[in-house]
Amino acid sequence: MNTIRLHDIYMHTTALGPGTRIAVWLQGCKRCCKGCMSPKSRPLDGGRMVDLDALIEEICSTHDVEGVTISGGEPFLQVQALYRLLSAIRNRTELGIIIYTGNTLSELYEMHNPMIDEIITHLSDLIIDGEYIDDLNDGTALKGSSNQNAIFITDRYLPYKWLYEEKRRDIEIKIENGSSLLIGVPDKSTLEMWRRISDQMKGEE
Ligand code: SF4
Repeated sequence: MNTIRLHDIYMHTTALGPGTRIAVWLQGCKRCCKGCMSPKSRPLDGGRMVDLDALIEEICSTHDVEGVTISGGEPFLQVQALYRLLSAIRNRTELGIIIYTGNTLSELYEMHNPMIDEIITHLSDLIIDGEYIDDLNDGTALKGSSNQNAIFITDRYLPYKWLYEEKRRDIEIKIENGSSLLIGVPDKSTLEMWRRISDQMKGEE
């Protein structure tokens, strides 16, 4: 497995966890959550295939960040590539690892896949689990809906537990080369506003 299907990557964000982080969105998700915040990351054949070694090199050679946040799409749909990516980050760097997944931790354990087991026990520091439920979107920071859990696999991010409990949503919007990227977990009104701006930008192209 030397490629990975990527939706997007952003090398320096403060909107997806403690400190400055590399955000990696993997492409592909089989769920159809009402109000999905990232519908373009869902098609299994969308995004772009990238060389896994090149991606690992890019991440591991970035020194001015605290960690990596992996999101999607559904990261565990590409479990072999995900395992290789996270193993390399763990072995070669001191970066912290946060993963967002639409599966619950129990569902991941029940898959009885040794690579998934390794990821959720040794290759991550914090996992935000559970699917997005639009009616339970209560504005909690860094969680899409209140059914999702911030599970601290190691104690690395325990001092930041409050970040996942306060009622505040921080986002970043990057506009580069005529395209826009929203980073973070937006509230519904911000998401709608951003979609309008994106559509407007496309209309002006
Ligand atoms: S799990 Fe995430 S990417 Fe997949 S449909 Fe739900 S909100 Fe969208």
